[in-house]
Amino acid sequence: MELPESFGAERNIPLSELTSFRVGGAARLVLRPNSYEAIRDAVEFAARRNLPLALLGKGTNILASDHGFDGCVIRFDTPLHDPIYHGTTVIACCGTSMTALSRETVKRGLMGMECLCGIPGTVGGACAMNAGAYGGEIRQILKRIRVLRNGRDEWVSVSDGDLGYRKSVFSFPNAIALEAEFELKEDDGTAAETMQRCMEKRREKQPLDLPSAGSTFKRPEGHFAGALIDQCGLKGYTIGGAQVSEKHAGFIVNIGGATESDISSLIEHVQRTVMERTGVMLEPEIKRI
Ligand SMILES: Cc1cc2nc3c(=O)[nH]c(=O)nc-3n(C[C@H](O)[C@H](O)[C@H](O)COP(=O)(O)OP(=O)(O)OC[C@H]3O[C@@H](n4cnc5c(N)ncnc54)[C@H](O)[C@@H]3O)c2cc1C
Repeated sequence: MELPESFGAERNIPLSELTSFRVGGAARLVLRPNSYEAIRDAVEFAARRNLPLALLGKGTNILASDHGFDGCVIRFDTPLHDPIYHGTTVIACCGTSMTALSRETVKRGLMGMECLCGIPGTVGGACAMNAGAYGGEIRQILKRIRVLRNGRDEWVSVSDGDLGYRKSVFSFPNAIALEAEFELKEDDGTAAETMQRCMEKRREKQPLDLPSAGSTFKRPEGHFAGALIDQCGLKGYTIGGAQVSEKHAGFIVNIGGATESDISSLIEHVQRTVMERTGVMLEPEIKRI
């Protein structure tokens, strides 16, 4: 089938190449549309052909199936335009890197995004997950968002309750976030230092040298997932190529040749053990394709 050039179509691409965990079989069709219109056309194309649809940003919060995906993956991981600044407001394309945007806002004398520097996904992925770190969270700064949902492309104001802990109504398959408008503040002189400190903490605490999807589990109320897992003696526990990180028990890492099945078995083992020993049920934060 002949597809428009604007779709940037490729066939049979291993999801292991598109996700930070580095696991997953092939996706039948991968599209990287080159405009907002092309994204809308790609969604319509998949619907017309009855193709199952998946949406990826940079794939840094994804566990992809060993069986691959017999459908169409839209990959929205590059900016379609530069960020637009008006005073303390910035409008960014959802394909923009969250880390690049945080750095740029700090350079321009703005604050509000400095703690989000180092989150390795896109702006769209961050809005979909309500990403956050070190006290900063997307919902504190997201003012308006341009979404494609139910066939309509519109800007909507963000209301209380639209985003919660690692969840958002602006997440696929409910919606595709196209652009986001953030309300920041003028830097009080501390933003660069805070950003530096957050990056150092990441390097010190996280296993950044091995493939992962970040924190495997959500933070259970009143606890830290990593501390509970560590307390159960699971640091370093390994199934196949999947391991509970020795550096940070909240991360499952791919130590080489891991499959989705290894990672899923390890997730279940951790959940069962932590439940038996502490009575706390851990809920995965990562999304599946
Ligand atoms: C080393 C490491 C450290 C991390 N640290 C943090 C951290 O500190 N804090 C944190 O919150 N997360 C963290 N993460 C997880 C991950 O980076 C974030 O969740 C990130 O926001 C996901 O962005 P992405 O572009 O990679 O999204 P993907 O992983 O590609 O997608 C995640 C979900 O969002 C949906 N989605 C993606 N783009 C859009 C869009 N434009 N519109 C609608 N839905 C969309 C996808 O369909 C999927 O359901 C970390 C991950 C790694 C590997």
